[in-house]
Amino acid sequence: MRELDVLIVGAGFAGMYMLHRLRKEGFSVKCFEKGAGVGGTWYWNRYPGARCDVESMEYSYSWSEELQQEWEWSERYSGQPEILRYANHVADRFDLRRDIEFETEVLSAHFHATAQRWIVKTRHSETLKCQYLIMATGCLSSTNHPHFDGLEDFNGRTLHTGEWPHNEVNLENEKVGIIGTGSSAIQAIPHIAEECGHLTVFQRTPNFSIPARNQPLSAEEVNGIKAEYQEFRSLNRLMPAALGAKFMGATQSALDVEDERRRQEFENRWEYGGFSFLGAYNDLGLKLEANKLAAQFVREKVSSIVCDPETAKKLSPHNVIGCKRLCLDTNYYETYNRDNVELVDVNTSPIERFTADGIKTSDSVYQFDTVIFATGFDAMTGTLLRVDIRGLNGQTLKEKWYAGPITYLGLMTSGFPNLFMISGPGSPSVLTNMIISIEQHVDWITDCINSIKGKKASLIEPTPDAEQEWVQYVNAVADQTLYPTCNSWYLGANIPGKPRVFMPHVGFPNYVARCDDVVANDYQGFVIQ
Ligand code: NAP
Repeated sequence: MRELDVLIVGAGFAGMYMLHRLRKEGFSVKCFEKGAGVGGTWYWNRYPGARCDVESMEYSYSWSEELQQEWEWSERYSGQPEILRYANHVADRFDLRRDIEFETEVLSAHFHATAQRWIVKTRHSETLKCQYLIMATGCLSSTNHPHFDGLEDFNGRTLHTGEWPHNEVNLENEKVGIIGTGSSAIQAIPHIAEECGHLTVFQRTPNFSIPARNQPLSAEEVNGIKAEYQEFRSLNRLMPAALGAKFMGATQSALDVEDERRRQEFENRWEYGGFSFLGAYNDLGLKLEANKLAAQFVREKVSSIVCDPETAKKLSPHNVIGCKRLCLDTNYYETYNRDNVELVDVNTSPIERFTADGIKTSDSVYQFDTVIFATGFDAMTGTLLRVDIRGLNGQTLKEKWYAGPITYLGLMTSGFPNLFMISGPGSPSVLTNMIISIEQHVDWITDCINSIKGKKASLIEPTPDAEQEWVQYVNAVADQTLYPTCNSWYLGANIPGKPRVFMPHVGFPNYVARCDDVVANDYQGFVIQ
């Protein structure tokens, strides 16, 4: 049986950096990846229009000055092909591939208490032993396939945005249906509408979307950032979401400003584009009255863009803006002015079933060549729980987390020694620029493993008290915001039967300080032996 110091699961941005760090520290380490290439999210999500919603100069590794100086991003927000090229460049430049085993899916990981090793099995029936197991499996990596009656009878093609085929998908002249109006759909719909014959969008909840205002990056802008890249990174790390220092950090309440000035500020930010919109005032995510003002502004924009008043009404979001992940788009609302696009509200016209040639709703029958599921992910816990992970006394992670994930700092969970999660539930992860959160976790885990070695110890796990206190704290912080007030995937509300628990931790800089304090206090809350 092969034996390693560390096995990393997943070769996205988390797994690649983890591999790089641990290999440099001299550990024997391999990375197992289910896909045939690196890139994680950006390997799987190849749907038309897939693009990052964090700006390119920020959504990139900061751990190598040479890398961040030499790589040239072409647009304000990078498209999926460019990010995937970057991931491949990193894998080649740092010679990572020799320690990544592709098309290798981990099915189970059981902790053997006597041997103090994790026993890991893959789909190839290989069994491997390792001291540390690091799940770098991503927060949005298990696709959500909701049940629809009759789906098996449908003779057309079905696609999921999160599992888009690698060969070109030709939708020319086709009748296409798309279910869902989250970030993926909102990016894909304008592209699909241009390509296909006719597009029907099935919407359950209208979403808030802000124009991304994507554009080519100017040499002036890039050179300006590169001249002081470390400073630029440091400022962003001080922001609540580890991004956007140039537009976040407002100190004024939306409620303390005259109507006209506030309107102008929203207008400026609508024109500027992107997440800057939510940075207009310091209480948009905290006070309902403030939030309503921003939400109303977007609703008015929707009415002014969409020509048909009935369609505009259906597209008008009615909940709290930013409570679900804010969507960024290019021509999303404009797309509904096309003759070949129709919007169906499944609240008033529920999908009854799939038929051999399409979808039957309560009041119509639709024929489709292709139906696209843009129905999202079993987020944050889905992939961790699909692996049969068993800790001390044979307890499964599923049993331990039956009422929701319990972690200390989103990094570890008690009863599962030497099992680390990168951007696990209970850490800022999806509420931040993911790459910056990933780097912080990778650096913390590397220091931790080195420290255990330095102490001539072999095991680490959090105490049950520390993780209970952490879970309560994560919830208490979330409860001070508007996040828990809508049915988002942050709460697991998109998956039937999933416990309703707010999973990510709000507030990156405080979180980092807390992680550093834990180390300064000799790994307070952990038992090392
Ligand atoms: P999502 O935000 O969860 O959206 C899924 C959509 O499918 C929602 O509109 C949902 O409606 C709908 N849906 C789910 N089940 C349904 C059912 N049974 N019947 C009808 N509609 C159903 O998923 P996503 O769009 O893939 O995005 C997930 C996350 O990935 C984003 O929030 C973002 O963090 C990330 N992402 C980022 C980018 C980017 O960087 N630009 C792009 C894509 C994704 P309800 O709202 O009613 O549940």
